[in-house]
Amino acid sequence: MSFILQGIGVSEGIAIGHAHLAAPSALEVMHYLISKQQVDKEISRLNNAFSVVRGEFEALQNSVSDGPARAEFTAFLDLHLMILDDPTLSDAAHTMIAQTLCNAEWALSQQMQVLIAQFEAIEDAYLRERKADVVQVVERVLKAMMGHPGYLPVASKHTGDSILVAHDLSPADVMHYKQHQFVAFLTDLGSLTSHTAIVARSLNIPSIVALHHAHQLILEEDYLIVDGTQGIVIVNPDQSILDEYRLRQGQLELEKKKLKRLKSIAAVTLDGTSVDLYANIELPEDMQQVKESGATGIGLFRSEFLFLNRDDLPSEEEQFEAYRTVATEMHKQPVTIRTYDLGADKNLNDAVQVATNPALGLRAIRMSLAEPKMFHTQLRAILRASHYGDVRILIPMLSHVAEIEQTLQLIQQAKDSLKDEKKPFNEHIQVGGMIEIPAAALRLNMFMRKLDFLSIGTNDLIQYTLVVDRIDDTVAHLYDPLHPAILWLLSHIIQSANRANKPVSVCGEMAGDKRFTRLLLGFGLQQFSMYPAQVLAVKDQILKSHLPDIVPLVRKIVKSDQTDKIKSLLTKLNS
Ligand code: PEP
Ligand code: MG
Repeated sequence: MSFILQGIGVSEGIAIGHAHLAAPSALEVMHYLISKQQVDKEISRLNNAFSVVRGEFEALQNSVSDGPARAEFTAFLDLHLMILDDPTLSDAAHTMIAQTLCNAEWALSQQMQVLIAQFEAIEDAYLRERKADVVQVVERVLKAMMGHPGYLPVASKHTGDSILVAHDLSPADVMHYKQHQFVAFLTDLGSLTSHTAIVARSLNIPSIVALHHAHQLILEEDYLIVDGTQGIVIVNPDQSILDEYRLRQGQLELEKKKLKRLKSIAAVTLDGTSVDLYANIELPEDMQQVKESGATGIGLFRSEFLFLNRDDLPSEEEQFEAYRTVATEMHKQPVTIRTYDLGADKNLNDAVQVATNPALGLRAIRMSLAEPKMFHTQLRAILRASHYGDVRILIPMLSHVAEIEQTLQLIQQAKDSLKDEKKPFNEHIQVGGMIEIPAAALRLNMFMRKLDFLSIGTNDLIQYTLVVDRIDDTVAHLYDPLHPAILWLLSHIIQSANRANKPVSVCGEMAGDKRFTRLLLGFGLQQFSMYPAQVLAVKDQILKSHLPDIVPLVRKIVKSDQTDKIKSLLTKLNS
């Protein structure tokens, strides 16, 4: 049967291929049969994993310190211990192993599905939602059994044209799937600027999120057309539609090829204004794409991705090697390393999420300052890499000037320790700050005075100004880069920085969206940082832009408080 699903396209392009469904659990588990002789061993493997997780929960219970979240956290742990000890979970899995000779992971995930179905039938909404706790507990047991990350090779028959269909993917999941040759990603949840979408975009393959029921409606092996630009999926299309999309796919390839000719041309507007186009990366492995893009620097190295999908912390040496690789490969062009922005939707493996509003909680620089030892390790690694190129430090999520002062002190301590050890580093390393919290944008001067440069994180700036969770698709329609308040803030930050001669860039998703290139140019922006795959399209737009024509229109846009008028002026600006 052919049908169409609509979601939010987060990465452009067309992909055609076969569906491969990710397991509903965040972990893909191996399915295999065991012999009768192995049953006892398999059951004890399962029991051991339950004991490990019980031990983890008990240790967590003992470590809860007094504080406002104590009661909530303890209740959460009690509930998870109760689920863990409930015989309907473990006993049923034992029986399944013994009777059907399936492996322990398979048995447990099947029993989880049975329990989920039972929870879904409950009328009481609160109790129904407790199925999420069952999933979390089971995932923990599965992890304990397999050793994290616990992902297994994705078994799809169609290597080369597989489209991953998942209910939800965390940023860490997407990182994991980076190694697999998927041609597109589809998820039921998510929104345009969720980190999951951002990582999917970095893979430069069509992706659609917020499809709601794709994981239920699409079957393994279904043939799919994914139109990442329009945000639509056509399931089992007719031949005529398939032909039409193949034609469009060919045209897009041609357009991409044409853009490649711009790679070594400088990004200069028609009136002679020079613009820096930098790349956003997550890992040193992204450098190949950076080289192909013609980007002239790294505007944002999201260093926290070095910390994901693992049980230990990356050592100073490992981080140093990663940062040095990027610095060396960029040949003295700027490399802006953002200190880890962990927390919210990017968590360390052993972190237990207790905050009610994690995006407002212990995230980014707040976490770094709360964990000075871990921060010290990173600062030393960045400083050591600064000897090999134009490395800069970028502090995420600043809301108080004191955070800059404390960070500068910690940087000084890291410098002193390196000096004692006679390890070389750039004494004059530049330290910049992300402007992504309205407080920093509104009182920019006091932040600017203490920083060498600014980088505007529009993804969070929009989230925190409009109070719209960037990962929640139910409010995605309210997430509006063209909201008059956002436009005013952006114009204010860029113009204030320019007046103060403070270099300023935009490294949020707006910088890579060519619909906003002229708008940002009109605000006075001359540094854009984006995914490598977006650089050439943005450059194309810059080469065709004439600032004296743009500026008056952009002024009108900022003055307007009518959404329709803003949209029509933007269309005019881009025509
Ligand atoms: C941003 O907030 O715009 C940004 C670039 O940082 P991140 O998306 O990693 O939060
Ligand atoms: Mg941010």
